[in-house]
Amino acid sequence: MRDLLPGEIELWQHVEGLARELFGRFGYGEVRTPMAEDTGLFVRSVGEETDIVGKEMYTFDDKGGRSLSLRPEGTAPAARAYIEHAINNKEPITRWFYMGPMFRYERMKTGRYRQFYQIGAEAYGSKEAAQDAEMMDMVVQFLGALELKDVTLNLNSLGDEACRPAYHAKLVEYLQAHREELCEDCKRRMETNPLRVLDCKNPTCQAVAAAGPNVLEFLCEPCRAHFDDLQRKLTVLGIKYVVNPRMVRGLDYYTRTVFEFIASHPALGTASTVGGGGRYDKMMKGLGGPDVPAVGFAMGLDRLVLLLKESGRTFTSPPDLFVAVADEGSQDAALALASRLRREGLRVDFDTRGGSLKSQMKRADKSGARFTLVLGEAERTSGQAKLKPMAGGDAIPVALDDVAKTLRAARLATAQAGPT
Ligand code: AMP
Repeated sequence: MRDLLPGEIELWQHVEGLARELFGRFGYGEVRTPMAEDTGLFVRSVGEETDIVGKEMYTFDDKGGRSLSLRPEGTAPAARAYIEHAINNKEPITRWFYMGPMFRYERMKTGRYRQFYQIGAEAYGSKEAAQDAEMMDMVVQFLGALELKDVTLNLNSLGDEACRPAYHAKLVEYLQAHREELCEDCKRRMETNPLRVLDCKNPTCQAVAAAGPNVLEFLCEPCRAHFDDLQRKLTVLGIKYVVNPRMVRGLDYYTRTVFEFIASHPALGTASTVGGGGRYDKMMKGLGGPDVPAVGFAMGLDRLVLLLKESGRTFTSPPDLFVAVADEGSQDAALALASRLRREGLRVDFDTRGGSLKSQMKRADKSGARFTLVLGEAERTSGQAKLKPMAGGDAIPVALDDVAKTLRAARLATAQAGPT
């Protein structure tokens, strides 16, 4: 678990701000669910045999003896909230998004943390491929707004309760024949939940899985039509994708569509999946809720930020002004000037410790402020001061009453000139 500090946090805020704005354009409203939920919620939705539930959850008993878990993902909590508030009785289609920390006891490495952050969205009420396509379009537009390139959309269909049993049977038959090559976990999973063998992290198991039966060859007619329809709609939207029949994702609740966005940047190492999701038409009912189809996705905010960092773009906003104090007697006036300018919307730095003008100027330099104004007795008496551009150039004479106006004009001029 990490600390996020100023200097880096601006990247996070940039990503979060873009998501809020863009998801809003698609009609998604934000939900915030508790950090901890009843453990059973995740067992029944994500699945007992998944690594997430079987190995990675932070589970504890509260003082009332209830088993709670820190949420390892956001889809199940959102579904719980949807059911609890009977949202399906209020509207036929619901679009929600969320962002916040998730917790998994994973091995730490680049792009993999125990407290990590997801931005996710869920659309309830439509079983149509158009909903899947719209959601993928939103992710593509989001990645575009972040100016992240070289991210590939991988697509697959896992079928539904009509066609998956035949695939399961074939998969089990195949895995039985390769039993000795599988890890101990997978020997068990083969009996309890064979699909989970396909996302085992063990390289030998991965090799066995890669040569196994192809799920797409087992799709029933309605699932095939849904998958074809989705691909046609992605083409209409101009969204590029690759079909990857080996991709199953690490959660049990999916039916039909699953997808992942995979970045090819070396900075992510093996943690190259920046986001993923899929359809879960049966989960609501399985949790004791209404029979409502749904599709959702989650992006890893930590990984998006890693990629943004690599791009070298910065999102920090330096102060517009540093107010320096020339003499002891001007300290209060400087404090009041800084206060007034901040109230007027400017970013102002001010050394509350006072000290020599030289040390204050050093600090002004370090702060990255665009201008410095030295306030002393002369300025207070005349009501006139000078704005010294820290990047060099002539000082601008200014009336103390007009500082905000002048700085705003300077800000505007820089914005119009574009990034330097
Ligand atoms: P999942 O819920 O496993 O499908 O994960 C969705 C996305 O969350 C992944 O594609 C990652 O970008 C991100 N993610 C999952 N687990 C972690 C983790 N331990 N650390 C950082 N990001 C993660």
